[in-house]
Amino acid sequence: MNRPEEHSHRQSMLAAARQLVARGLNRGTSGNISVRCNDGLLLTPSGVSVDALTSDMMVKLDFEGNARVAINNTKPSSEWRMHRDILAARPDVGAVVHTHATFATTLACLHRDIPPFHYMIALAGGDSIRCAPYALFGSQTLSDHALTALTDRYACLLAQHGMIALGRDLDHALAIAEEVESLCEQYWRVLQIGEPKLLSPAQMADVLEQFKTYGQWKRHE
Ligand code: 13P
Ligand code: ZN
Repeated sequence: MNRPEEHSHRQSMLAAARQLVARGLNRGTSGNISVRCNDGLLLTPSGVSVDALTSDMMVKLDFEGNARVAINNTKPSSEWRMHRDILAARPDVGAVVHTHATFATTLACLHRDIPPFHYMIALAGGDSIRCAPYALFGSQTLSDHALTALTDRYACLLAQHGMIALGRDLDHALAIAEEVESLCEQYWRVLQIGEPKLLSPAQMADVLEQFKTYGQWKRHE
């Protein structure tokens, strides 16, 4: 086991959990975070608020869902199936962030996919952000619905629940979560005064192409 790598993931996850609350994307014990680590994943513990969270409470799981290292006897997030299934199915993903951010959740309560009303929708990987159907939190059905809604995407909404953001690494997943919440707020505001004009499939294809060379990020394909 690569201990230094695991130690640094634990610290980054704690910092990320604090950032989500500081940026208004999460509160209380809502939400959870996972990071791919060696041949398994590290996951935040269940029902622990950020004020009480420490880096040694992150739980190491293998891809069968067995907790292998449970320092402090902490129980993994109730959404361990969702995190495990996403990381197992998506080799392009190194981190998963789940939040109950207000605007994403508001739209998720309407079971709305977010259409291409703004070009930044492409940041989530396509020309929409899908909303997965409702299922009980922590259930295998919720995990299955989420995985389907995340096909070719880095984000989805979860009906009557919240959102999931994926990233190559934790910083990327946090950036996606923040952008998705911002887009959901903008879409919500637009809906107060009318129906937005949507970008066409061709316009969104141009945006997706343009994003391949945008900014300082290296392409990881
Ligand atoms: P956990 O505290 O078990 O991670 O659950 C929070 C949550 O958001 C469930 O969907
Ligand atoms: Zn949740």
